[in-house]
Amino acid sequence: MEQQYDIVVAGAGIAGCLSAAGAAREGASVLLLDRNDNAQVGKKTNWGWVCGDAVAKTHVDFLEKELGLRLSEPVLDLRVDGVQVLSPDLTRKFQFEGAGYSLDRPKLAKVLVDFAIKNGAEYAPRHEVEGPLIKEDKVAGVYGRDAKGEQFSVGAKIVIDALGIASTIRRKLPKNKYIENTVSTDDIESTGRYIYKFNPAGDDARYYDPKNALIHLNQQLAPGGYGWVFPKTGNRVNIGIGVEKKSLEIRNSKLGRTDTLHMLIDKYVEWNPLVKDTELDQQDSNGKGYWSVTVRRQFDSLVFPGYMGVGDSMAMPNPISAGGIGPAMSGGAVAGKIAAGAVSSGETGIEALWKYNLRFNEIYGSKTAGLEIFRIYLQSLNNDLINYGMSKFLTEEEAVEISYGNIPKITIASTFSKVLSGVSNITAFKNLLFTVKKMKEMNELYTKYPSSPAAFDAWKAKVTESMREVKETFRPNPI
Ligand SMILES: Cc1cc2nc3c(=O)[nH]c(=O)nc-3n(C[C@H](O)[C@H](O)[C@H](O)COP(=O)(O)OP(=O)(O)OC[C@H]3O[C@@H](n4cnc5c(N)ncnc54)[C@H](O)[C@@H]3O)c2cc1C
Repeated sequence: MEQQYDIVVAGAGIAGCLSAAGAAREGASVLLLDRNDNAQVGKKTNWGWVCGDAVAKTHVDFLEKELGLRLSEPVLDLRVDGVQVLSPDLTRKFQFEGAGYSLDRPKLAKVLVDFAIKNGAEYAPRHEVEGPLIKEDKVAGVYGRDAKGEQFSVGAKIVIDALGIASTIRRKLPKNKYIENTVSTDDIESTGRYIYKFNPAGDDARYYDPKNALIHLNQQLAPGGYGWVFPKTGNRVNIGIGVEKKSLEIRNSKLGRTDTLHMLIDKYVEWNPLVKDTELDQQDSNGKGYWSVTVRRQFDSLVFPGYMGVGDSMAMPNPISAGGIGPAMSGGAVAGKIAAGAVSSGETGIEALWKYNLRFNEIYGSKTAGLEIFRIYLQSLNNDLINYGMSKFLTEEEAVEISYGNIPKITIASTFSKVLSGVSNITAFKNLLFTVKKMKEMNELYTKYPSSPAAFDAWKAKVTESMREVKETFRPNPI
């Protein structure tokens, strides 16, 4: 007989630690497993705690409200006013989001695992999770290898999968209509970044701004994604790019190049006239790293009998910004509590867990399908069209509305005064109108997210069809 817990949480990253804390403080017996040793908790890959480190203040506040955890310095390394998105020619700059923070991710990870333990979770580091135990078509625990390399298995009424993008549990779930085993490569950004110490070689807020997180849209430098320059304390900066595979291939073939992600990151750093005389900040051996992040809506369901998923394992990052810290925090803050409630009611089947789908939708998830549509549209625009669009047919206010998942009233009439010219520009504008229409449709579908699994098939068919239409209309077209 394997050891039994109410809840096993797999993965002690942001989503996992918070789920474990939330479940344990409601009185459930919780085991939190992670492959890392204690000193390296929350490390995502061999490369380190690979991330841009930026999170909006709203998520940090939500965490305090839901679980009573107040983050402070030095975890909140630097407070910034917001995120600024620049056009490829750097002439336009849109201010997004409210205040936010640059985090110290290794320090955050320690605070979060301590919080889980303090709330009563049992923490087992150096446990590699290899897959789910399935009994009678239900997830009933996990198996893997312990610190000595020996096989272990542990039983649970509910398994919370917080293993990140490459989750070995999700990939080995029995084929089912609720949760896909894999994510399409079209919906993944390959990313990488450096953390540098440097002395800004001048003063130009288009390239580096100690008060704002900068995002550079540029289909040549970062095809299908973007570059970022996020300030940190003490003249340090987190600088990196994300690219989409197809966009990179098209860009390389059109330009006759063979650039890889690694080469493009170095080119992006070189392109920046202010980030010079750099020295890698190797604190926690976390100065340089590469990993992937999803840019689609979260999975259509986050639950399966005996199973809940949270964070990157469920594709929760924002489809436009790839920001996944916030949804991992907010998702974790609610997932554990709901799991503990299900255990104490004695019901852990899909009906009982469904309320997590509804709750996540309510706090974050309802806007992401719309944002996925906008991301697909954006990837179909080359630099000239993005420059034109940001100066002529999308105002800063409209762009900000879209980033919040709201639908601005963009109509031919409202833009009449803007006097559009050029066939491809006018086509791009018409495509924007189509995009906004589809986003609206998708948002409406998400306000009608099925209240129980019985209505899931019909709802999912509509979402899938709408997304198929968008993907057929827009193809990556970086150059
Ligand atoms: C380069 C880059 C830049 C990013 N920048 C930002 C940003 O600026 N802002 C933002 O909001 N988001 C950003 N993101 C996304 C963000 O980092 C993630 O969304 C976030 O870390 C998700 O947290 P998580 O807890 O779901 O998963 P993870 O952080 O991936 O944690 C998963 C945990 O599970 C463990 N684990 C994995 N597999 C196993 C296994 N088989 N057995 C046992 N343990 C296992 C891992 O060791 C880890 O501890 C970025 C991502 C990348 C790659």
